[in-house]
Amino acid sequence: MKAILASNNAHKLEEIHAILKDFDIELMSMKEAGLDIEIEENGTTFEENSLIKAKAVVDELGTIAIADDSGLMVNALDGQPGVYSARYAGEPSNDQNNNEKLLKELASKDDRSAKFVSVITMLFPDGKTLVARGEAHGEIGFEYKGDNGFGYDPLFIDEVSGNTFAELSSEEKNERSHRAKALEILKEKLKELM
Ligand code: IMP
Repeated sequence: MKAILASNNAHKLEEIHAILKDFDIELMSMKEAGLDIEIEENGTTFEENSLIKAKAVVDELGTIAIADDSGLMVNALDGQPGVYSARYAGEPSNDQNNNEKLLKELASKDDRSAKFVSVITMLFPDGKTLVARGEAHGEIGFEYKGDNGFGYDPLFIDEVSGNTFAELSSEEKNERSHRAKALEILKEKLKELM
């Protein structure tokens, strides 16, 4: 089956492509589908924003859409940056500024525990909806480590390996990330549906 990914984030697209590569879904980005729209993410939860993105694509193209809404939740910051992760330090979205703001906000805190969350929505033109949530737990480091990945990866220390997500190879990150976990659940739900 064909599906459009409701995202223009090249890193996310790459990860989702890699994780779904053995599955019988032909994935296209919005760009590849010729869709150039700005989707307003005005929901207050990952679930709401994920559905908003998927729905925008289905409304425009009438095809199956897959959307990921994700972000970092830091315990000492009451779950912030959360759904505002991409624009934590303001718009336009800038990873370096977001990471610097995060380090500043955490400077006086002892608890640096955090989790990444990803909510993947698969929406069919007939309205059928599959939703899957994945989480990856860890803590925020004091300095940047690693060159891979994107976003908060150089600061997020994975609790399993003790490395930042930016120090992991893409294969390793795609085995244990929040996005990988959500997509595994999505695959199971899709199998049940078929
Ligand atoms: P979204 O595109 O609105 O879902 O925003 C996602 C934002 O959350 C990104 O811009 C990053 O700041 C952060 N984020 C989500 N997933 C990851 C990840 O795997 N690594 C690092 N940062 C992530």
